[in-house]
Amino acid sequence: MSAVMKDFPTSVNQQFLATPKKMLINGKWVPALSGKTFEVMDPSTAEPIARVAEGEKEDIDIAVRAARAAFESGPWPAMTPSQRGKLVWKIGELIAQHADELAELETLNNGKPLAVAKAADIPLAADIFQYMAGWTTKIEGKTIPLSVLYTPGARYHSYTLPEPIGVVGQIIPWNFPLLMAAWKLAPALATGCTIVLKVAEETPLSALRLGELLQEAGLPDGVVNIVTGFGETAGAALAAHPGVDKIAFTGSTEVGRLIVQAAARDLKHVSLELGGKSPNIVLEDADLDVAIPGAANAVFFNHGQCCCAGSRLYAQRKIYDQVVEGVAAQARSIKLGSGLDPSTQMGPMVSETQRNRVCGYLDSGRKDGARAITGGKPRDGAGYFIEPTVFVDTQPNMKIVQEEIFGPVVTVAPFDEVNEELVRAANDTIYGLAAGIWTRDVSKAHTLAARLKTGTVWINCYNIFDAALPFGGYKQSGWGREMGEAVLENYLNTKAVTIGL
Ligand code: ADP
Repeated sequence: MSAVMKDFPTSVNQQFLATPKKMLINGKWVPALSGKTFEVMDPSTAEPIARVAEGEKEDIDIAVRAARAAFESGPWPAMTPSQRGKLVWKIGELIAQHADELAELETLNNGKPLAVAKAADIPLAADIFQYMAGWTTKIEGKTIPLSVLYTPGARYHSYTLPEPIGVVGQIIPWNFPLLMAAWKLAPALATGCTIVLKVAEETPLSALRLGELLQEAGLPDGVVNIVTGFGETAGAALAAHPGVDKIAFTGSTEVGRLIVQAAARDLKHVSLELGGKSPNIVLEDADLDVAIPGAANAVFFNHGQCCCAGSRLYAQRKIYDQVVEGVAAQARSIKLGSGLDPSTQMGPMVSETQRNRVCGYLDSGRKDGARAITGGKPRDGAGYFIEPTVFVDTQPNMKIVQEEIFGPVVTVAPFDEVNEELVRAANDTIYGLAAGIWTRDVSKAHTLAARLKTGTVWINCYNIFDAALPFGGYKQSGWGREMGEAVLENYLNTKAVTIGL
């Protein structure tokens, strides 16, 4: 048991952590074929908390075969949409019933505050299954009137059949471990696909517990297979496997490119939810009592480890000082600590690698001439903590303004007018995931929203997610959408059937 867990009550089953975690393949919990395992850590103490099977290419191969068999025959393809819907709903119900345990597992392994895991990660994970359960019975084709010019007088009855795309490989990151698994699994199950899920090496525990709940819900063997292992081995093998029809990936843009290359050989379908460098724009007429905490939350939520983090803050000149000071004051007031401590508002970065990456950006910002008016360094002592940081005196070409930091670091820049120059600055990035606008002027809000090249625009709010709302990127932030009706397209093929009458 880790030191932190001794200090705080927990409903996580100690036996679950004490036994080396196996992988779920074809309905059985199995070790890696090689017998290899690796340690996962509590990032607030840098202590190991569990051992996990290290799946590699051979394990991926067995998992893909199991998913193929489950897709082609057996109980899964024979189920009615209604039966499938009830099963998907039940998964949501089981997640909700085990919310405390799953939240603690998430906090322990990822480092996020328990209150956040309880309020956001776990209920949203349950909800996406229940939202998608509704779609199972509503995936409909169309009848299409034909006029076929070269068969005059002939008549046809034509219709489309939406069909599951097949065996899906899903690769997810560590920032919202259970929620990312849910965003991927729920629509794939709703459409009737089968799945090999490769979870992030840093945070496999909640998805493994979810695997047990999938079994409890009665999901047939092989429909969801969960492989633990590293990106370069297990992940790369899944992306390249010829038995996989489609890859759905969430992670860095860098790895997204590797996924596309791996999938190119046999032209797998690919959907990608990648990085961001989201502009968050505060106009001078905004309600600053809402906009300032909103701007702080936009970047510091989940320690800045959000692909949609509002990491480039733009404030109109007249209110610039007030916004900078206000966001800095919010940053200074954030209490860092173990996520299991109820008074903690921000936990550690997920890993040493991530902490070092963020520190690299803090150094680079300073070297380039930006000034950290608060934070700017890691916290001394155990765990991978970084102080919430506000950089001013930035230039558009600085690395800290251009590159995704994925940590609690915001750059602030002033602007004079709501005009083309502002739009250009906001869009001056390879990314296009999200943007924020804070204003009381409805006309300016809608005009700006239309000009921003991002998949999401939040006005007078930020980080608002809902199972019904599509989320995804323009430009190098990705292909396809998560959630809402839009995600179903990721997992369906359209068959056109024509009958000569
Ligand atoms: P981060 O940089 O935030 O850790 P990554 O994009 O590296 O995010 O990782 C997201 C997921 O992609 C993880 O599950 C990781 O194991 C996986 N991954 C990393 N490299 C590869 C790769 N070359 N091929 C397939 N998956 C990978």
